Amino acid sequence: MVIDLDKCTGCGTCMVACSVENNVSVRPDESDPQRRLTWMRLYKVTNGKPFPETEVSYFPRPCMQCDHHTPCVSVCPATATEMSYETGIVSQIYTRCIGCRYCMAACPYHARVFNWWDGYFPKSKGMTRYLSPEISPRMRGVVEKCTFCHHRLMRAKTKAYAEGRRELEEGEYITACTEACPAQAITFGDLNNPDHKVAKLIKSPYAFRLLEKLGTEPKVYYLSSKDWVRELGDNFLPGQYEPVTKVKMG
Ligand code: SF4
Repeated sequence: MVIDLDKCTGCGTCMVACSVENNVSVRPDESDPQRRLTWMRLYKVTNGKPFPETEVSYFPRPCMQCDHHTPCVSVCPATATEMSYETGIVSQIYTRCIGCRYCMAACPYHARVFNWWDGYFPKSKGMTRYLSPEISPRMRGVVEKCTFCHHRLMRAKTKAYAEGRRELEEGEYITACTEACPAQAITFGDLNNPDHKVAKLIKSPYAFRLLEKLGTEPKVYYLSSKDWVRELGDNFLPGQYEPVTKVKMG
C-alpha cells in the first residue's frame, strides 16, 4: 500500500469505509478515544510553526503488515496472529486470542485495538443491513486489527480460479479504504510485481515508511514532498534541512 500524504485531505472516509467493510461496531457513546474501535486511524500532524508558516498533514495509519520480525507475531503467546509468507498479510485469529494485549504493547505503530464490547448492531436502527458475511464476528475481550481486507483477496482469488487464472490482475484486489478514498491518495497492489503502480511509486525520492529504523519492513509506504513530514516518519537525514522544534499530534 502506498499513501500519498500530499493528496490526503483528512476527510476520514478511509476510517468509515474500513469500519463498515469489516463489521466494526460503533457504540452509542464513543467519547472515550482509548476504547474506541478503529482499525484505520487518521492522525493530524503539524510543523509546529506559527502562522503563516503553519503546515498541516494528515496521516492515515492502517496495520503496516510488518515483514521482518513482525513484533506482534513474535510476542503472541497464543499464536493468534501470524504473517503469511504467501500473501504477506498479518492475520488475527480471534478465537485463539486470549486478550492479554501483549501484541498491542509490542506494535510500534499502535495498529491494534482491544475490543471491550460485544458487537453492537441494533436492528431497529437498520445497522444490520451493512453487515458482511465474509468477516468473522468478534466477541469482547479480543484484540482486533486491519487485515488489508483479506476477505477481498480471497474473493478475488476465487473469481480468478473460477475463470481459470492463477494470477490476479492489478486492481482486482484492493482494500476498502483504497476504493473509498475520494482523493485517490491510497494506491494498492503487489510490491513484488515491478509492473504494478505501487512498485514504481515506492522508488520516489519522497517515499518513506514509518519508523524505518526499527527494521520491521512495513508494507505500507508514504509519499510526502514535505521534509518535516518525512522527518516525522523517522526518515530524517541530518544536514538536509532544519529539524522541526515542536510537533503536535492529535
Ligand atoms: Fe503487527 Fe503492528 Fe506490525 Fe501490524 S503494524 S504487523 S499489528 S506490529
